[in-house]
Parts: sequence; C-alpha cells; structure tokens
Amino acid sequence: MLEIEPYNDLVMCIRTGSGQSGQVVMWTYSYLIEDTLFDAGCANAREELAEALRTYQIKRLFISHAHEDHVGACSIFEDEATIYATSEVAEELRNPIELTEFFRAVWGQPEPVSKIEPMPAFFEVADLHFEVIPLPGHNANMVGFHEPNKKWLFSADAVPVPSRKKMGMLDENIPQTLATLEMIQSLDLEILFDSHRGPIEKPAEHIQRRIDYLREFQREVKQLHERGKSVEEIQEALGLEGPWYLELTADRFGISYVIESVIRDSEFSGT
Ligand SMILES: [Zn+2]
Repeated sequence: MLEIEPYNDLVMCIRTGSGQSGQVVMWTYSYLIEDTLFDAGCANAREELAEALRTYQIKRLFISHAHEDHVGACSIFEDEATIYATSEVAEELRNPIELTEFFRAVWGQPEPVSKIEPMPAFFEVADLHFEVIPLPGHNANMVGFHEPNKKWLFSADAVPVPSRKKMGMLDENIPQTLATLEMIQSLDLEILFDSHRGPIEKPAEHIQRRIDYLREFQREVKQLHERGKSVEEIQEALGLEGPWYLELTADRFGISYVIESVIRDSEFSGT
C-alpha cells in the first residue's frame, strides 16, 4: 500500500507498507524533494511507487541503510535515477539477504540493484544544502541527511520508534544508539524526518525521552551484569517482554541482542 501527501512546500511524504483490508502492519516513510528521493520504501509497494512517482521523474535516490523497508523499491529507479549509497550499504544492495516468510509478508523481498554511486559528503537539492552524517546504532552503516540552515534531519531509523525500546536486531548497538541520539540532540533540530513516525516538529523532547530511557536501561543492565546475572536473568529482572510477533521474526529480532550490546560495551570499555 502507498500514501503520498505534501508535508510543506518542499517535502512530500511517501508512506509504503503491506496491508490487508486497509490495515497496514507498519508504515515506512520515504521523502521526496523535487526530483530527489530519500529512501525507497518496501518491495511490496514497488509497483504502486513506480506508478505514483512517474510524473516526478526521480533523478537521484539517497539510501540511508540497507534494511528492506528502506530499499525495497530501489530496483525500479535503477535505469532512470542515480542511486547513492555508502560502500557497505551498496554491497548489501547488490546482494540482498533472502528474507523469511514473515518479513516477505511485512515488507517484501528487495531485488538486487547493481548500478550504485558512492555517497557524497554533501549534496544540494533545490536551495537546500545537505551533509551526509553517520548515524550508527540501529545499524552500523546507517547515514542521515542533515540540512543545517533549515535544521532538518532525515534520520532514517536512528531514533527508536517506541519510547521504551526493548528489542532489536542482532547487530543493533545500544551504546552507539545513545551516542547518535546525543549527537542528534546537539543539532538543535526544527524537524526530524523519522522513517516510521513521519516528520516530528521540535523533536527535542521526543528524542530526550528515548535517551533517558536507554541511559537508565544501560545502567540497570550493567549493574545486573556486574552482579553476575545472565542475559536471561537480566531480561527477567527488568521485566522485558517482546511484542506478539517477536517469535515470528525467527531470531532476527531479540530482547537478548539489546542486553548483549550493553554488556559487550561495558566489557570493552571496562565501565
Ligand atoms: Zn532499519
């Protein structure tokens, strides 16, 4: 499914998702400014996206990271647009992982993309000047697109969707997520263009709530680990339970992964 609507005089919001009878499991936002697209939505909306964007004649596509809800429709732009990605993300775009049935239903399987240009450090769209900034944590190779004059950040998945994040993917890193959130706060943003919640105006409080929770989570995990508790015991002590679909992810998402990322960090840094 797809919905497209203008946000302001420059930015169009494009939401893609998979749904049944009008209900969408989860939307992912792509953003369009003139002929430039930020992320490409999910594969299950590929044909709808091609149809909806035909009149916009997309010339450039900037990819934040290689998760399937952000790159699923890249292949439809391969001939008409230049696709930009960092070298690590480009490698994943060329060789997308084979998704399990659950993720095929939720997002769809991306097709491989071969023509990819290196991500520039800066670029311009209309009279906007973007800088590409690393946003590690949710994914080690993720980048965002910052417009300092407007104080806008196209932040992909840098800011956790729930205010109390309990689960993550195997390679998620909570200490890195926290450092990235602190860095985002220092940008003093007017608008955070989030990939799942859409544009968030004056986002400082929204971001701070997540920083405060994750800091406290980190402190509690470290304390329990120092007392010799196992990952399972820490999960139980903190009363962390996953959503109904956690088992369906077949271990691609887990509560243990976020706990383990904090323990790894404390062992590495000795704190
Ligand atoms: Zn992601």
